[in-house]
Amino acid sequence: MAQKTALIVYAHQSPGSFNAAVRDVAMQELAAQGFRVLVSDLYAANFIANSTQDDVIGDLKNPELFQYGEETMHAWMEGRLSDDIVAEQRKVEEAELIIFQFPLYWFSVPAIMKGWMDRVLTQGFAFSLEKIYDNGVFKDKKAMLSFTTGATKTMFQPDGINGDINIALWPLQNGTLHFCGFQVLAPQIFWSPAHCPNAARTAMLDGWRARVKGLLAERPLTFAPCELFDLSFQGGFLLWPKVREERESRPYGITTGHHLGKPLPPDNQMKAQTGSDRPDGRK
Ligand SMILES: Cc1cc2nc3c(=O)[nH]c(=O)nc-3n(C[C@H](O)[C@H](O)[C@H](O)COP(=O)(O)OP(=O)(O)OC[C@H]3O[C@@H](n4cnc5c(N)ncnc54)[C@H](O)[C@@H]3O)c2cc1C
Repeated sequence: MAQKTALIVYAHQSPGSFNAAVRDVAMQELAAQGFRVLVSDLYAANFIANSTQDDVIGDLKNPELFQYGEETMHAWMEGRLSDDIVAEQRKVEEAELIIFQFPLYWFSVPAIMKGWMDRVLTQGFAFSLEKIYDNGVFKDKKAMLSFTTGATKTMFQPDGINGDINIALWPLQNGTLHFCGFQVLAPQIFWSPAHCPNAARTAMLDGWRARVKGLLAERPLTFAPCELFDLSFQGGFLLWPKVREERESRPYGITTGHHLGKPLPPDNQMKAQTGSDRPDGRK
């Protein structure tokens, strides 16, 4: 049987950090399961975060008006993307599981990891107009966020000072990962490791080790399937009227983003939904 490959895209500056310990646990556990584990250590590699003309080798299609998305799409089709992008794209192609490991920066990924997303997930390679969300390019792959916070869990409750963590997760999990087709596994969140006793940190690492053992068997998060929408420019990519009508009687919106002015489906971005909560109606 072919060996499975996992990729850990890792962004922390310090080898002694808690993020490094979390990465190491994943590497050990995945290797123990027979995975070939690739790591993109972004700070160590001095990975370029800026999307610029330097990412395209050779002549630009439109030197008068540089459009990053257009130019990198053509460069991808013609094999003219810069070597560092191509190397990362090869890893993505090979991996069936991608773990993004990072400290939460401003409710998001650190800039160097955002740069990885901006530069590696180019049009054509990671998505096209026809291939998005559950029809997306990477629909046979799994991806997840694994991150540490400064804040405590209660601070990210709907009634906590930071507001609902589900809302903070939506842009990355829906707008980036699921947009490219990935089946998104529930995030692994290490709440405030710098402000808890060592025993609590050890317990967090043990919990992560146990989770990684069964990671690939987990049911992914649920998102609104494309079939719920009229995917035409005339239709505005809106929910079909009959779907909207059918949702009127339900207590919750469809997903965190597709809330339809109703209460958010509880923990839609934190755990897989089951039963009648599922937007696709599957059990
Ligand atoms: C620009 C910026 C923006 C930020 N924005 C946010 C934000 O929006 N929301 C938010 O909540 N936070 C935010 N933070 C805080 C940030 O998310 C945390 O500082 C970070 O997640 C902590 O993780 P770390 O790996 O750096 O912890 P570290 O400080 O590296 O580690 C915490 C503790 O774990 C110990 N440790 C290391 N290895 C082990 C091990 N194997 N076993 C046990 N203990 C170990 C370390 O020695 C240390 O005592 C931000 C920080 C910055 C710099």
